[in-house]
Amino acid sequence: MILPPVRYVRPATLSEAASLLAETDGASVLAGGQTMINALKLDLVQPTTLVDIHRLDELRGIEVTADGTLVIGAAATYAEIAASPDVRRAQPSVATMAAGLVDRQGRNRGTIGGNCCLNDPTSNFPPLLMALGAWFRTASAQGWRSITAETFFAGSLATSLRPGELLTSVRIRPLPPGSGVAHRHQQLASDSWALARAVVRLDTTGGVVAQARAVIAAVPGSPLRLTSVEEELTGRPADASLVDAASAAFEREEVETVGDAHGSAAYRLEMAGIQLRRAVADAVASAVEAWTGSTA
Ligand SMILES: Cc1cc2nc3c(=O)[nH]c(=O)nc-3n(C[C@H](O)[C@H](O)[C@H](O)COP(=O)(O)OP(=O)(O)OC[C@H]3O[C@@H](n4cnc5c(N)ncnc54)[C@H](O)[C@@H]3O)c2cc1C
Repeated sequence: MILPPVRYVRPATLSEAASLLAETDGASVLAGGQTMINALKLDLVQPTTLVDIHRLDELRGIEVTADGTLVIGAAATYAEIAASPDVRRAQPSVATMAAGLVDRQGRNRGTIGGNCCLNDPTSNFPPLLMALGAWFRTASAQGWRSITAETFFAGSLATSLRPGELLTSVRIRPLPPGSGVAHRHQQLASDSWALARAVVRLDTTGGVVAQARAVIAAVPGSPLRLTSVEEELTGRPADASLVDAASAAFEREEVETVGDAHGSAAYRLEMAGIQLRRAVADAVASAVEAWTGSTA
């Protein structure tokens, strides 16, 4: 398919990018382009101008700050995230997620910022970042903002970014010792979109769950925290009994499901329940390992 005519600009700095977005009617950000270029070809979007941020050094860095917060630039690619020793040490679940995304070509182009700003219901990063309690820094001609993951992911293919605003970085505070994080998903085939995702994070102290986060995605249009499940798990011993406890609480959750040609709403919901059970079991194992490791 042939691309429609569109102006292409590659700003040299973040501030130039923000000015271009503020001053140009119909301008859109171009990052890895994996979704944007396809959307252009299919005439799903009609930007007048593409502002290419993919090579902006200000948006590509990955670092751990003095308080242990992991900062990943919005234009860092999946491959860069997967290979980063900082990410592997500070948030191994993020490195594992990046390493398993798409294929080698896709990992070299796709960016964490593009993945989050797209907020496709099936995207990998949004539910994980919500479970990790990540927050987002943005920039625009009006200045900077910080947005929590829960506010940022505003609905199917929607975020709380304002017109002309850029995502600049994703930030994740260190997890307490004794935390376990696990992600499970269901696909029809290894290269197809996820039908259901579940991410579980358990922060344990002395073998007891001090705080739980459980998030599902692909089933609702945007990642959803399962507050009944989280409340049910909190205060319980971190052992195999959490799996049934989570399942029982999941039955009480009100989830607005979406179905499509790949799977009905009811099927996706059932799959989400199964992935949740698996993620809880994995998170227990990972928390126990972290706890015993940190007290050994
Ligand atoms: C074959 C294929 C397989 C895929 N498999 C998966 C998969 O398994 N899991 C998965 O999660 N994704 C998958 N994707 C999606 C792919 O990883 C997305 O293209 C990606 O999520 C978007 O990232 P990008 O850097 O390419 O962004 P782009 O396509 O450049 O941009 C996507 C959207 O985000 C906006 N945007 C990008 N960066 C910013 C920013 N910093 N600030 C503000 N707005 C911004 C753009 O304006 C655009 O609207 C797949 C894509 C393809 C083509």
